[in-house]
Amino acid sequence: MPRKRNKAKIFTVLITAGPTQEPLDPVRYLSNRSSGKMGYALAEAAHKKGHAVILISGPTIIPQPKGVKIISVETAKQMYKAVFKYFKKADVIIKTAAVADYHPAIQAKQKIKKEKNTLMLRLVKNPDILKELGRKKNPNQILVGFAAETEHLIQNAKKKLIQKNCDWIVANRVGKKETGFNSDWNQVTLISKTGRLIRLQKTPKKKLAPLILKKLGI
Ligand code: C5P
Repeated sequence: MPRKRNKAKIFTVLITAGPTQEPLDPVRYLSNRSSGKMGYALAEAAHKKGHAVILISGPTIIPQPKGVKIISVETAKQMYKAVFKYFKKADVIIKTAAVADYHPAIQAKQKIKKEKNTLMLRLVKNPDILKELGRKKNPNQILVGFAAETEHLIQNAKKKLIQKNCDWIVANRVGKKETGFNSDWNQVTLISKTGRLIRLQKTPKKKLAPLILKKLGI
């Protein structure tokens, strides 16, 4: 249970951030455009509020926040292992990471040569970390998912909130230049399992992070 300090509760907050990289061969991988900026901003903001922060991060090029325990991973499977290593001690779990949904069925030992005009890739589904957290979490743990969508934002986010048994889902539109992946700005809507819908204005991610935490009650 969280400790109390000056009336504010101190939590252990587990945050995942960034993309995952799924190797095809020793020099190539499948990934996505996530920069990790939103997750890192949340980690920094949670640390500033006095919480103990564990940040599980896919590959990023942004500076590591100080005072935060960082675990670096590359693949979804590695992220899964790291999350479940720490999940029991977390009061709050925020899954900002853009986890790759699939990984190549075969990881070639040598660099794949461009001999043929077409190349078929067989992909295998990765574990859905958030969904499993939703199944395993205890009622005192607060589980927050992110839903990055290019269309039907609120509708898709609500679906994920229910399917993955989250307490909150943070919906953000991606595919636009000025917000979302790789931008310094974001515009999000928080949706709770009790039906609350909080639309926050377009804000720099570093300023948005403490606002999101406040709305989550953290
Ligand atoms: O289903 P979708 O990938 O859009 O859901 C996004 C949410 O689910 C994010 O919080 C993301 O971190 C999480 N997720 C996950 N494991 C996956 C895919 C997504 O934890 N394999």
